[in-house]
Amino acid sequence: MDFPLSEVLQILSTEVAGYAVPIVDLIAVQTKDPYKVLVATILSARTKDETTAKAAARLFKEAPDLVGLAALSEEHLARLIFPVGFYKNKAGFLARLPGVLASEFDNRIPDAVEPLTRLPGVGRKTANLVVAVAFKKPAICVDTHVHRIMNIWGYVATKTPLETEMALREKLPPQYWLTINSTLVAFGQGTCRPVAPHCDRCVIAKHCPQIGVRPRKVVGTGKKPNTDSMRKFVSWNVNGLRALEKKGFVEILADLNADLVALQEIKAMPDQLSETLKNIPGYIPYWFSAQKKGYAGVATYSKEQPLSVIYGIDHKDHDYEGRVLTLEFADFFFINAYFPNAQHGLLRMDYKLRFNNDLLAFAKTLATKKSVVICGDFNVAHKEIDLTNPKQNEKNPGYAPEERAWMDHFVEAGFVDTFRMFNQEPDQYTWWSYRFNARTRNIGWRIDYFCVDQKSKKRVTEAAILGDILGSDHCPILLGFR
Ligand code: SF4
Repeated sequence: MDFPLSEVLQILSTEVAGYAVPIVDLIAVQTKDPYKVLVATILSARTKDETTAKAAARLFKEAPDLVGLAALSEEHLARLIFPVGFYKNKAGFLARLPGVLASEFDNRIPDAVEPLTRLPGVGRKTANLVVAVAFKKPAICVDTHVHRIMNIWGYVATKTPLETEMALREKLPPQYWLTINSTLVAFGQGTCRPVAPHCDRCVIAKHCPQIGVRPRKVVGTGKKPNTDSMRKFVSWNVNGLRALEKKGFVEILADLNADLVALQEIKAMPDQLSETLKNIPGYIPYWFSAQKKGYAGVATYSKEQPLSVIYGIDHKDHDYEGRVLTLEFADFFFINAYFPNAQHGLLRMDYKLRFNNDLLAFAKTLATKKSVVICGDFNVAHKEIDLTNPKQNEKNPGYAPEERAWMDHFVEAGFVDTFRMFNQEPDQYTWWSYRFNARTRNIGWRIDYFCVDQKSKKRVTEAAILGDILGSDHCPILLGFR
């Protein structure tokens, strides 16, 4: 059966009327000024709307028109628009814009796609958006939401936004050209989100074939949390941050919207990371890389400036491997840890147990001062329930008796496995081998944990496994903490 596009867009036009209006549309309606629409569109790429809105307001105060823009230096522009994504590049584009418009377009903003793409920082998506929003001329702006959702619906079957734009030019009835972007951006931000869409509350679910979608499924939450002063923490072994960036890490991070995000196995030095990863709007990043290139390493993105940062655990046998990074806040320590793998033949078991005990001593010392949250890849499934095949793995790394005994010791020392506070079900895993289609068959291990010291247990509001977020052989895990 063909996808009932007209019916669906009719439903969505009513639905998204209650959602936030995309910032570029808002600026178009408020100003009716092609210059401001163009500049806001450039600022909005890979940036949250609220960040774009604030940056645009600061910029338009000093540069209400092209003459004002031409008077600002690139450095000053960068300061004004920070922290939009790629703010340095965008400052360069904006600095060059008045010159190009003067020399090629007689100081007028072009109203067609092709000439617009000759402006600095303007690709087809931006050009289409400006044509549609600022000039109300036929254009189809295909951003990531339009491309993604049209493919989920099976209305197109394309690999890139450009292919989607071309397919829609052939197929989409003209009356939807101008509005399709704002409708699907609002819907994509509010319901059909890139990570774990809300199919559970979607008004068009009965029409949607959900092609390639893993609907939202958060397991582990035991009660509806009180969201007053609740903070959301995420931990994720990313198995290579540079690789994950190419799979959409920045968008996933924005979608998670966590206060603290602990990453393990980043496998990179800070100087190997892109400017994008180092300047994610709204976050302050902290890195602790291994001395050996491409190995281990942890990073924590924080929305809030910590009081202090502790790199490692002040131990020469461990710290060169970049395994522990601790942020101190007013009322808790946040320890991000990547525990060693005992390795094939358990060759590194002695080292692993030394590391574990030294880290435990470190955490216990901190717990005498204030709450401790310790999260990360512990590289061990604690109990039978925590892996699919306990019998076959009894002597294997990750489930060897010594490792499980240490987890017992860790719990006896006063640390609580928060996931099991809410969920006693089997088949709840955080890591799956890349082999044998293990993730699809849910043949996995729960080896990533959020733990807290015993006296802070009452501060935990939820704990969950975000199994539908892809990109690594581990999935992220979540803690609600107040
Ligand atoms: S049912 Fe799910 S995948 Fe389909 S449109 Fe709704 S939220 Fe998106």
